[in-house]
Amino acid sequence: MLVVRNIAEICTGRVGPIPLNDELPITRLRNSAIGIEGDTIAWIQGDDPANWSDNARVIDANGGCVIPGLIDCHTHTVFAGTREDEYVQRAQGLSYAEIARRGGGIKNSVDAVRECSVDQLVEQALPRLQRMLALGVTTVEIKSGYGLTVEDEFKMLRAVKRLNELQPIELIGTYLAAHTTPREFEGNPDGFLDLVLDANVLDQIREEGLAEFADVFCETTAFNVEQSRRFLTTCADAGLTPRVHADQITQIGASKLAAEVGATSADHLERIDDESINAMRDAETVAVLLPACSFYLGVEQAPARRIIDAGLPVAIATDFNPGSSVVESLPLTMSIACSQMGMTPAQTLIATTANAAAVLKRENKVGAIKEGMQADLTILEVPTIEQMCYFAGRNCTKTVIKKGHVV
Ligand SMILES: [Zn+2]
Repeated sequence: MLVVRNIAEICTGRVGPIPLNDELPITRLRNSAIGIEGDTIAWIQGDDPANWSDNARVIDANGGCVIPGLIDCHTHTVFAGTREDEYVQRAQGLSYAEIARRGGGIKNSVDAVRECSVDQLVEQALPRLQRMLALGVTTVEIKSGYGLTVEDEFKMLRAVKRLNELQPIELIGTYLAAHTTPREFEGNPDGFLDLVLDANVLDQIREEGLAEFADVFCETTAFNVEQSRRFLTTCADAGLTPRVHADQITQIGASKLAAEVGATSADHLERIDDESINAMRDAETVAVLLPACSFYLGVEQAPARRIIDAGLPVAIATDFNPGSSVVESLPLTMSIACSQMGMTPAQTLIATTANAAAVLKRENKVGAIKEGMQADLTILEVPTIEQMCYFAGRNCTKTVIKKGHVV
C-alpha cells in the first residue's frame, strides 16, 4: 500500500463531463490522506497513521495540494523539426494564413515528418513527454496529420504507440489524416480523402490498435463540412470516435457537424455562434478550448464565458504543435485560460481533468480522485490550485504518481 499524507487540500471534480456554470461541483478535502492499492485509489480518509498499516509506504505531501493527474486531450506532440523562422515572421507582422500561403505552416512540418523514420520521430518526441510528465501531466492525446500519405500517417501513429511503451504517460492516438490537403492533391481534396479513407487503411489502423479517434480540420482553408462529414462518418463506421478542429478561423458550421456526427468534442471554437453552442450542448459534445494557441498566435480567444454560461462542459488543452502553439505546459495553459478567458483556477482544473477525460472516453478511469479510480495523482508544492494558476509559468509540481507508481 502507498499512502499520500500531510495534504493541504485534495482538489478534484466528480466524474466528467461537468458543466462549469453555477455552483462548481468541486471537492476540497482538508486533513485527508489517500491510500493506493496497486494501480487504484483504495480509500480517502483522515490523515491519521491509525488508518494505515505500519508497512505502508508513505509519501509526505508536505502541505501541498493534490490534484488528479492532468490530462492534455488535444496535442500534436509527434512532429519533426522546428519552425522558429515563422515565429519571427509573425512577430514582424505576417499572419498565420499568409505564412501558409507562402508555403510555410503545416506543409513545412509535413516535409520534415516524411523524411523521418519511426525511430527518429520517437527520439524527438520522448523528451517533450518527459517534460510534460514533470509538469504533472499523466494522460496525453496525440494526433497524426503531418504525414498525409497512408504510410507516413501510419508512421506517426506507430511512433505514438511506441512512445506509449517507453514512458509513463498514457498516450491515445488520433487519426488526423484530414489535417490539410497535401501538395500532391492540390485542388483535389476529395481524391485525397479517397486515399486515406480506403477500407484497408482503416482496417489496418484497427488491427494494429493505432488510434481510437478520428479528427478533421473543418475550415475554409482545409476541408469543408461535406468532406469533413464524409471523413468522420467513414472513420466512425470503422470504430474511430469523431472529433473536429472547428470554428477556429471562420464559422462554416464545423461545431454543428461535430454535434451531428456524435463527436466527443469540437475543438478551438474561437468563432463559435450561439446556435452551435446549443447544438453541442444537446448532443453532449464537449467544447475543447485551446487558449495557448490564441496566446501564441496573438489572436482573440474563444468565448469561454459564453460557452460556460450556456451550460456546455468545457475542457482545456495545450494544442502543442510546432507552428501555432509551441506550448508544452498544460499548467501554463490553465493560467492563460484564467488571465485571458475569464475562467477560474477551479474551472480550469475540471477542464483539464474530469472533462478532458470525458473527451477521451476515460472518465470512469481517470480525471477524478475517488475510490476505485486509477491512481493518477499530481502532488503540488503549493497548497491550492489557485496558487498553481497564479504562479503562471512556474512548475509547481512536486511528485507525480501514475497508475500507483511514483514516476
Ligand atoms: Zn490542433
